[in-house]
Amino acid sequence: MKSYDVVIVGAGLAGLQLSRLLAESRLRVLLIDRKASLTQAVHTTGIFVRRTLEDFALPEDCLGPAVHDVSLYSPGRRKLDLHSPHEEFRVGRMGLLYERFLDSAIQAGVEWMPETQFVECSKVNNRSLLTIRKSGAPVYVATRYLIGADGANSRVARALGLDENREWIVGLEEVLENVPLEGPPRFHCFLDPHLAPGYLAWAVHDGQQVHIGVGGYSARFDPVEALREFRASLAGILDLSNASIVERRGGRIPVGGVLRHIANSHGLLLGDAAGAVSPLTAGGLDPCLRLSKYAAEVIVDYLRTEKPESLRAYSGDLFRARFVSRLWMRRVLATVRSPELIEVACALMRVPVLKSFAHHVFFGRGSFPDMGNELVTEPVV
Ligand SMILES: Cc1cc2nc3c(=O)[nH]c(=O)nc-3n(C[C@H](O)[C@H](O)[C@H](O)COP(=O)(O)OP(=O)(O)OC[C@H]3O[C@@H](n4cnc5c(N)ncnc54)[C@H](O)[C@@H]3O)c2cc1C
Repeated sequence: MKSYDVVIVGAGLAGLQLSRLLAESRLRVLLIDRKASLTQAVHTTGIFVRRTLEDFALPEDCLGPAVHDVSLYSPGRRKLDLHSPHEEFRVGRMGLLYERFLDSAIQAGVEWMPETQFVECSKVNNRSLLTIRKSGAPVYVATRYLIGADGANSRVARALGLDENREWIVGLEEVLENVPLEGPPRFHCFLDPHLAPGYLAWAVHDGQQVHIGVGGYSARFDPVEALREFRASLAGILDLSNASIVERRGGRIPVGGVLRHIANSHGLLLGDAAGAVSPLTAGGLDPCLRLSKYAAEVIVDYLRTEKPESLRAYSGDLFRARFVSRLWMRRVLATVRSPELIEVACALMRVPVLKSFAHHVFFGRGSFPDMGNELVTEPVV
């Protein structure tokens, strides 16, 4: 049986980055994913925010043009335009980006096993014995530490006896080409409790591609029907007459905040598996990068010292303290169902003080906390 220091389940952004960092620290790392190719079944729009773009060197050719402008629409389609002098958003070309991250991980020494599904694990002394399924056939491996980077519905979380996501919204989108762009690249956001109950409908056009999507609580809408209706309603905003669909994407987005119990002596959770998504904006890419960087430090220290104290810093309770206001705003978004009330709230956003709040929500730099000092000292946004 092959044995590793760390086995990582899930080659999304979180698992890919962590695997490289651990291999660079000279640990023996196995990365598995049930997908045959990372360009298949991408489920994210891939919008990276300014703070991520500034702090992480993402390959230039994996990012679309910068977006400075946002239009926020009320249910009655009254528009509020917001502009930032900064490059606020860039849409990642995610299949290419995942492949680039994988190449770097393999170069750093990571062993990569595609088409491999995590099934279960048993704990034996200070190791975990894993049953994985490679192209349908069972394979057994041993590891000192197991990482669940396997997304919102994490099987690893269950196997390790760690917390699991209980609240999520679903998102569905189409990626289109051949849509003319009038004016600068723009992120159109629509508050509409019918098309996107508890979240947003969006159309982001960066000059090369357009992503049109809806998100919301699954019990309250039919995402397929809502997306069809939303797309049909965009005449006058985007000219879709010659548009061709190049991809369909979708999935669950956990919005209950970072889970509390995300690490134990056998393993830890990362990214969506840890609930590390902004409960307000549903952005999870920045948390993937920040949390995996921090997890790498914690894991290296733990495997070196074998002291359980090393894992105490990787506690969801520490992170949750940073998300109080965003969790509170999530409750409000989940509760407000009346289009009239949202219409009034949108009208109020024209008042300068509330417009600056909207500006802050879209362009603010409050993202997932960097660990260490910032975790303790940065104000909650
Ligand atoms: C429609 C939609 C749009 C979004 N748009 C944005 C956005 O624009 N910006 C933003 O910041 N966030 C966005 N998010 C959220 C963001 O995409 C996620 O937070 C982020 O991608 C999570 O990455 P991850 O690495 O944790 O998990 P994932 O990307 O979900 O990766 C998990 C991997 O684990 C693998 N896996 C799962 N189970 C197993 C198993 N048993 N065995 C082996 N492999 C397994 C899967 O195949 C997958 O590759 C969006 C989410 C959705 C659904």
